[in-house]
Amino acid sequence: MPRFLPCLFLAMLPAAAAAQASTPPTAMPHEQASLHALASAPSEAELRATITRLVGFGTRHTLSDTRSDTRGIGAARRWVKARFEAISRDCGGCLEVVTPSQVFSGKRIPVPTEVMDVIAIKRGKGDPQRVIVMSGHLDSRVSDVMNASSDAPGANDDASGVAAVIEAARQLSKQNNDATLVFAALSGEEQGLYGGKVLADYAVAHGWQVEAQLNNDIVGNSQGQNGATDNTTVRVFSEGTRSNETPAQANYRRYHGGEVDSPSRNLARYLDRLAGNYLPDFRVAMVYRTDRYGRGGDQVPLLEAGYPAVRVTEAHENYTRQHQDLRTEGGVRYGDTIDGIDFRYLARVTALNTIAMAALSRAPAPPTDIDIAGAVATDTTLKWRKVPGAAGYRVHWRDTTAAQWQHARAVGDVDHTVLKDVVIDDWFFGVSSVSADGYESPVVFPGDAGSFERSPAPAGQP
Ligand SMILES: [Zn+2]
Repeated sequence: MPRFLPCLFLAMLPAAAAAQASTPPTAMPHEQASLHALASAPSEAELRATITRLVGFGTRHTLSDTRSDTRGIGAARRWVKARFEAISRDCGGCLEVVTPSQVFSGKRIPVPTEVMDVIAIKRGKGDPQRVIVMSGHLDSRVSDVMNASSDAPGANDDASGVAAVIEAARQLSKQNNDATLVFAALSGEEQGLYGGKVLADYAVAHGWQVEAQLNNDIVGNSQGQNGATDNTTVRVFSEGTRSNETPAQANYRRYHGGEVDSPSRNLARYLDRLAGNYLPDFRVAMVYRTDRYGRGGDQVPLLEAGYPAVRVTEAHENYTRQHQDLRTEGGVRYGDTIDGIDFRYLARVTALNTIAMAALSRAPAPPTDIDIAGAVATDTTLKWRKVPGAAGYRVHWRDTTAAQWQHARAVGDVDHTVLKDVVIDDWFFGVSSVSADGYESPVVFPGDAGSFERSPAPAGQP
């Protein structure tokens, strides 16, 4: 995967542009020692200890017992809360732990049931309303989604995600973050993505500007049911167009482009690039879909609330281990047990998350109000609104059929630039912001199609 090669980029630029790009010595993205340190930091022992504890609650079904201290979803969420509080004690009370909940009933919740999330918040020092979320889901299930009593270990689905969230909280609790970091163990996923809804409502109610949700669901297995073993790839699913596009925005986008440049998609590209820079022998496989075919996850309620979000999930799933009664049938062992977890793999996925959260929270906010012009001209003009904390900006462009940004130019601390002899018709463009110490935001595609600002659902839409 592509690596930052700022010097090479400069070397490849035409003379005039190189002069322009060399003026601002600051605000160039560069590799960060602290992100390299995070790459190998996640502890396999911690991840194993968390999953062992979660599996030990027998079932974590959303409709299971909430009073027992040893079995069921209530015991599991109290344990997660205590774990976050212990991590907070170790960092001088740096985490605020909250448990937002709502009562739901529905097709898979026959009697009104409280769905409670357990969330640790590490407030940003610079811009606390900017929020980076990492999530996994605590609840589990067996073959019958309504069975709340049988053992449902859910080691991979999704104790792996919750273990990654807790380990990320532990790793990042003692590090700097300019934007707020949120570590979320959600419930009610298997019954209908209810915990994601609770999180989305909480974010909206608190005026959070969620810049990214990294939803980790099924992230610990490296052996597919088809026999494929892949412990070096993780899939990142992202929607192509924003969930809350209005008909007018969709019309504009259909004609001018942007169908593969939602903020979620450019968040996926950001993860892809970070993996290329900081995780040797590990790569992101971007999938141009909101989720796996016909399936969903807790990123969906945040997308519907108008926030950028992606699903992180293993490369090859093993369906004999998902949503299964524990049993042996025809010589095949079924069930989501801890022996199916590859802890080294899970540690790499955790590292990708921690690196992304650190990088996003230290970079400036992504630029807003990006406008592009250049019809019937040989040059392309980009304008944007400056964001707090940015020491400079970079303009990016790529072939319209390319998956990843291919060209970049640092343009200094300005709010517009002209790309000489780059014809608007032939490329897709974007702009990123860069901090004085070299942390870069995701690239933002121009207009409504690419904006990282929240897009509430149009009136009349649920
Ligand atoms: Zn799941």
